[in-house]
Amino acid sequence: MEYFEMLKQGASNENMDFNEAQYDKFILYKEMIKEWNEKINLTAITEDEEIIKKHFVDSIKIFKFDGLKTAKKIIDIGTGAGFPGIPMKIMREDLEVTLLDSLKKRVNFLELVSTSLKLQKVEAIHGRAEDFGQNKKYREKYDVAVSRAVANMTVLAELCMPFVKKGGYFVALKGPSIKDELQESKKAIGILGGKLQEILEVEIEGSDLRHNLVIIKKIKETPKTYPRKAGTANKKPLK
Ligand code: SAM
Repeated sequence: MEYFEMLKQGASNENMDFNEAQYDKFILYKEMIKEWNEKINLTAITEDEEIIKKHFVDSIKIFKFDGLKTAKKIIDIGTGAGFPGIPMKIMREDLEVTLLDSLKKRVNFLELVSTSLKLQKVEAIHGRAEDFGQNKKYREKYDVAVSRAVANMTVLAELCMPFVKKGGYFVALKGPSIKDELQESKKAIGILGGKLQEILEVEIEGSDLRHNLVIIKKIKETPKTYPRKAGTANKKPLK
């Protein structure tokens, strides 16, 4: 299958339109990832088709959650080389996107990507989620916080939930088996003001990859004590 078809099919199965202009942006993004990956460590996935499937289509699958088709403002926590935040922005030009990562080199790369792809309303910020989560400018300001491959659900909930407005969502892109991890995180999610709404299984067309989207609704404000200072969520996970 051609790359255009892979992306289009991945998008249309989640009821998202896909056009040539978006395709051109994905291809330019892919080239930039490959070029910069030789200078700074961005991703272990370097082969063209793999980048399209495992990074781009996988990120697009987040739109299976309908709340992301209408959200206005999102934050991607631990975005790395821009996943899922940049593909989301390419798919929804009107979306306001904040990309957060604790590695400065990756944030510099993301700024370059935003400029080269002519993306508007994208802010790439350098720092830790634990610090920005206590910053008034960012705390409880987002319709949705998203995250892929950053931490287990218990830690992730503490890093992500503080950014979400009451009534909004935290969406985690997770691997195929999440039952135990989710069970362990239930109490933490509750403490942080969330409630498990649903789990959506997604498949990457033309592969045997199956992932889960964990959708947490924010039903009350996060207590001011969270997130705790950098590193604590990992060292002393909420139980
Ligand atoms: N989300 C991307 C993806 O799916 O390809 C990147 C995943 S990478 C394994 C994890 C990223 O999270 C790294 O770029 C790391 O710098 C960032 N990260 C880890 N802990 C963080 C924290 N507390 N605050 C901000 N970024 C963090």
